[in-house]
Amino acid sequence: MATTGHAEIVGAGLGGLTAAVALAQRGWSVRVHERDDEIRAIGAGIWIWSNGLKVFQSLGIHDEAVEGAHIGTVTETRDARNRTVEAIPINGGDGPRLCTIVRERLIGALVGAAEKAGAEIVTGSTAVSARPDGTVTFQDGSSARGDLVVAADGVNSRLRDGLGLVKRRVRMKQGATRVLIPRQAGFVAPEDEPKYIEYFSGSRRVLYTPSSAGELYIALVCDLADDRGRAIPIDKATWRESFPHLRELIDALDGEARWDAFEFMELTSWSAGRVAVLGDAAHAQPPYLGQGGGCAMMNALGLAHAVTRRGGSPADRLRAWEAVERPVIQHTQRFSRRLGTLNALPEAPRTAVMSLMGRSRGLARSRLRAAMTSPTGYAATAASGS
Ligand SMILES: Cc1cc2nc3c(=O)[nH]c(=O)nc-3n(C[C@H](O)[C@H](O)[C@H](O)COP(=O)(O)OP(=O)(O)OC[C@H]3O[C@@H](n4cnc5c(N)ncnc54)[C@H](O)[C@@H]3O)c2cc1C
Repeated sequence: MATTGHAEIVGAGLGGLTAAVALAQRGWSVRVHERDDEIRAIGAGIWIWSNGLKVFQSLGIHDEAVEGAHIGTVTETRDARNRTVEAIPINGGDGPRLCTIVRERLIGALVGAAEKAGAEIVTGSTAVSARPDGTVTFQDGSSARGDLVVAADGVNSRLRDGLGLVKRRVRMKQGATRVLIPRQAGFVAPEDEPKYIEYFSGSRRVLYTPSSAGELYIALVCDLADDRGRAIPIDKATWRESFPHLRELIDALDGEARWDAFEFMELTSWSAGRVAVLGDAAHAQPPYLGQGGGCAMMNALGLAHAVTRRGGSPADRLRAWEAVERPVIQHTQRFSRRLGTLNALPEAPRTAVMSLMGRSRGLARSRLRAAMTSPTGYAATAASGS
């Protein structure tokens, strides 16, 4: 017989909501606490690789989450003169799968599945601390007890900090402004419209991501010290100077924009007693691979699988979960961080390194492994239904 109990989950982002659905579907009683008054998607669009798509299948939300999403055939990297220096084919045959989705829709699909599975979601509920015995304390002075507590409260996690679990927190030198705009002809050449394209110029990047038939997600990546690059409202003149070939696209960058600095997080342990820490709270990574959310969801599914298995104490099961999932997530985090070092290179050597990366099969394999084009660990077992 499987083990179940009551879970208190803090944070209704991709990690917390996935844990809520997966635990509730396995017979746990689940309560999710979100400090905001409504559940909102953070960011504009999102890349979901094979591992994330497998998680959707396991949760039974695949068709709803990917409905209307964009499925491109290639990811390309371009230099400052708009020349392709690297092209990785995707979504063909047995190769890697990648789907790009408007975040709002993904969060909506997860909330719907959590409620359908019987999870309770409480908004306007801010947790301030958690103890290894499973007690969570809230800002209004109340407390709750869980057989399992999931701290999925994001990169600035109060619960994690209160438990003293941080080993290394690196604030990267870059960040991104994200915006979702209507997709229109003429932003790029007609043959480029369905592609995913990362344009480089100096230390700046523009990430072009169609996310549905009518929506385009754009990320403007630059150094923290680049005041004009990171300005909101977007300083279109300075971005046009860096990317003259994207003038029409940059002129259309209107609407709500959000800036986030990139971070890298490593913990001494992903758990303390009955408290598990996951998602950006445990393993934030710069988004150069588009895998932070995929890792959060994969790890949440793996957690639900691990804690529902028989045998051992709750703390033993959390240690077993970490032993299985941590090596692959760390590989992804570290690979992603290394990709960020490309920004520091001058244009010519960077182009040379990127074309070498495009030609090297070993590097391409390592990169795709890091992008987790197939799920691993408990998530693989859970995704296959065994
Ligand atoms: C520019 C950029 C682009 C990215 N692109 C991709 C991509 O293409 N693909 C991908 O897979 N990943 C991507 N990521 C990473 C991805 O967005 C994150 O890894 C993911 O959203 C983390 O989810 P989470 O649930 O751990 O945290 P969050 O999404 O941060 O959710 C945490 C939740 O907890 C709530 N909360 C916080 N504190 C408390 C508290 N004390 N009490 C109650 N609630 C609380 C917050 O309000 C929030 O709702 C990107 C990140 C950035 C910055």
